Amino acid sequence: MTDDYPTFIARDHNRSVPGKLDIPYYVVDSSCVVPMRQIEKRQFAAYTIRPRIQKLLPKFFKAPDLLLVNRAFEGAIPDFHVEVTDSNIPDLVASCDIDHSIKPSLSFEGGRLPAEKLLRFFVEQTLPRFADERNEPAKHSTSHMSPYLHFGQLASLEIALAVKEHAEKHDINADSYLEEIIMRRELSFNYASNVELPDRLENLPEWALANMAVHSRDPRNPQYSPEQIERGETYDELWNATQKEMLLRGKIQGYYRMYWGKKILEWSETYQQAADVMVDIHGKYALDGRDPNTFTNILWCFGLHDRAWGERPIFGKFRYMSGDSMKRKTNTRAYIEEIRLMEQTGRDPAKQV
Ligand SMILES: Cc1cc2nc3c(=O)[nH]c(=O)nc-3n(C[C@H](O)[C@H](O)[C@H](O)COP(=O)(O)OP(=O)(O)OC[C@H]3O[C@@H](n4cnc5c(N)ncnc54)[C@H](O)[C@@H]3O)c2cc1C
Repeated sequence: MTDDYPTFIARDHNRSVPGKLDIPYYVVDSSCVVPMRQIEKRQFAAYTIRPRIQKLLPKFFKAPDLLLVNRAFEGAIPDFHVEVTDSNIPDLVASCDIDHSIKPSLSFEGGRLPAEKLLRFFVEQTLPRFADERNEPAKHSTSHMSPYLHFGQLASLEIALAVKEHAEKHDINADSYLEEIIMRRELSFNYASNVELPDRLENLPEWALANMAVHSRDPRNPQYSPEQIERGETYDELWNATQKEMLLRGKIQGYYRMYWGKKILEWSETYQQAADVMVDIHGKYALDGRDPNTFTNILWCFGLHDRAWGERPIFGKFRYMSGDSMKRKTNTRAYIEEIRLMEQTGRDPAKQV
């Protein structure tokens, strides 16, 4: 029995392993509140998946029955089993064949217990501010659940239930949070589970493909190489800070993450190179990367699940985001200062638990 999960290693395992076994192979969807397969086909926007999910929520948006193990496993422990303890983690990591130049996140600790602590902090301290402040990065009003969701250390069902219960008890409106963690997130899973290669621009809607054909030769000025982008070496102080946030925290605040993606689209030689750079940076640095949300949101920068907007160079009809609008709408100075401090001191001044 294993996870039904549409990206990363699980996707390949679920295709290749059953043929090698002579016993049944079950995949269980514990990723979504409403299991992915309950939505019959690929959906093209939040407004098309929302009514379908809403119809099924009464059946699925509740605590699951407690499962008790009837018979404990009595076989021999396989050779590949490794005991993981707090004290041997550094040695185990040091022995892994991975890129050791990537530093641990300054902000997040892995594991179920830190995840539960952070969830409790969000529900009790931040939830009332979420709806109004989630697009103000310096205020730290989002839940930071994405790394824990990605690694299955918390399920979206239990997060959504904890939020709903607390909101009902304290008369808080949690609709905007539930919209993100259920509707938006499950739209991503719907996309990733209905396409062969979720990172490919070929999966974009017709209007977006036509848009790119018209604007593919528009001059990019400035234009940055993937290496300059990865190092955060652009003229744009805010953008550089977002890239540094990725390197230091292992994720970028949601509102600025859109700006991060849109600028990479604007500064890359081709659209495909822009998408590849975003996917590579996520694969290398993001704690919540290689997730259905990764590919769906990167393609959102190129019109996936969005609509056509006004025409402009390079973007054509893709939604545009400017540095000036970020300055108008958010406290960019406070954010840039926070990231600078984090880089200088090696500590996250906004660490919540
Ligand atoms: C270019 C780009 C790349 C992104 N890459 C990722 C990624 O690799 N992994 C990832 O989980 N998210 C990604 N997102 C979506 C979003 O930015 C993150 O889910 C969010 O910032 C995670 O922080 P949080 O848990 O504090 O979010 P909160 O605002 O507290 O939201 C709670 C949860 O709702 C879900 N959610 C929030 N926003 C979205 C969204 N736009 N689409 C789908 N689900 C959403 C996430 O599961 C999130 O953990 C990306 C967005 C963009 C624009």
